[in-house]
Amino acid sequence: MASKKPARSYSYNRTTGTLHIRSGKLETGYFLDRAGDGWELTKLLDRGTVYTVRAGACNCKGFRSHSRCKHRDALAHMQASGRV
Ligand SMILES: [Zn+2]
Repeated sequence: MASKKPARSYSYNRTTGTLHIRSGKLETGYFLDRAGDGWELTKLLDRGTVYTVRAGACNCKGFRSHSRCKHRDALAHMQASGRV
């Protein structure tokens, strides 16, 4: 059976400064901070996990193996729609 990836959606909460990435029923939230010319994403439920997205690249494991990831996609989407 072919597996279909659940649709992703992104939202940014200006009040809390958090970015939320929803994939199907799963939602992951991150504190979003500017880091020089890039962004730093700190996982809400695991503050020891920090990802840096800069110049269309991310330092997470997923990006290193696939050259794309949800963090980079989320930021690209947010910037394209002028939400961050
Ligand atoms: Zn990533």
